[in-house]
Amino acid sequence: MTQTAKTFLIRYGEVALKGQNKPYFEKMLMDRIRKLLKDDFPGAALTREDGLLVARLESEIDSEKFIARVSRAFGVESVSPAIETAVDMDEIGRAAVAYMREQIQKRSIKSFKVEVKRSNKAFPLQSPEIARQIGARLLIELKVLRVDVHDPECRLFIHVRRDRAFIYDEKIKGFGGLPIGTNGKGLVLLSGGIDSPVAAFQMAKRGMRIEALHFHSYPYTSRQAYEKVRELAEQLTLFCGPIRLHSINLLSIQEAIVQNCPEDETIILIRRFMMKLAERIAQAKKCQTLITGENLGQVASQTIEALTVTDQAVSMLVLRPLIGLDKSDIIDIANRIGTFETSILPHEDCCTVFLPKHPKTKPRLEDILRSESRIPAEELIEAAFLTCETELIG
Ligand code: ATP
Ligand code: MG
Repeated sequence: MTQTAKTFLIRYGEVALKGQNKPYFEKMLMDRIRKLLKDDFPGAALTREDGLLVARLESEIDSEKFIARVSRAFGVESVSPAIETAVDMDEIGRAAVAYMREQIQKRSIKSFKVEVKRSNKAFPLQSPEIARQIGARLLIELKVLRVDVHDPECRLFIHVRRDRAFIYDEKIKGFGGLPIGTNGKGLVLLSGGIDSPVAAFQMAKRGMRIEALHFHSYPYTSRQAYEKVRELAEQLTLFCGPIRLHSINLLSIQEAIVQNCPEDETIILIRRFMMKLAERIAQAKKCQTLITGENLGQVASQTIEALTVTDQAVSMLVLRPLIGLDKSDIIDIANRIGTFETSILPHEDCCTVFLPKHPKTKPRLEDILRSESRIPAEELIEAAFLTCETELIG
């Protein structure tokens, strides 16, 4: 049965720890939540009340839908659909009985436990006494219930605050993190694979605004391959807000490398050119860092030696938030954020167009620089830069 509510408590753990910056983080979080609610929940009023955000609606709404929407805001630790009462034992008791009666009807629960938090220290009763009295009233008025302090089917939380008491029985976890826009801007190198959308998500979760750059090898790569990347970017906008997606044709660079450099260095050389172009775009778009989905040991270009030589192509900070994760962890996140199904659609990537049979796993910078000197790097970069097209997604 659909659960409905009019009041929602929104907790924001880490944001609250930010000392002097706290008002700024709170404002960024509230702005973000308001934006997310604007279209589908226009009547929602959001207020900050002693370290907690409270969203109130004009009438009962589908809790699951509302919580899914609010949880897209980074910084949200958890959300609870709640009812609210005056700070008065009789009122709290009456509301608790009504609340539990509804839970019994909806979920046929039999056992419960009352947990009380009293942040209003002026309230005459202490938490254990409040729990005892409300628990007793529930037992008397709702005969089917029994108390189980160890493994209750329903944990009834009562939070007694300064001028309201809230009653709820679940805390639905959000993504945590920090509100978008509180930690600079990064340029993610977005392929059509599983990893790079997750990498973008991980950095956005730390408050970073995201722009994206995709390399294609048109006409070797298809229009559909680009559409797939576009769709991934669109999925990311649900969490990150609008994303500018830049795309660059890498074909001339790839051809120059394939024709003039050792075959086993192809991948590492292409990756260095990608980084150089990305740095150019990042500088032009005022992004402070590059983000990739690289992961230690996953493929030949992701050994520590290869990553070192890749990094040496640029001076800008390169963030690789997935570096220490297992593939299964990355897939879990991809599923949770809804990019996995798109990522596994079978479309060619520019890197697979000229894949060498035996890529070098331990490239040395001197060798790579020597190979690079065989092609007109600056000219090629300049020409590729001019193919850049930009689309605003979301
Ligand atoms: P992914 O799943 O993100 O494609 P991967 O495990 O397939 O990663 P690689 O193909 O070696 O690994 O790419 C490593 C990283 O380089 C990617 O995560 C991405 O950040 C970047 N990258 C690779 N190909 C492209 C591309 N065509 N356009 C933009 N960035 C790319
Ligand atoms: Mg890939």
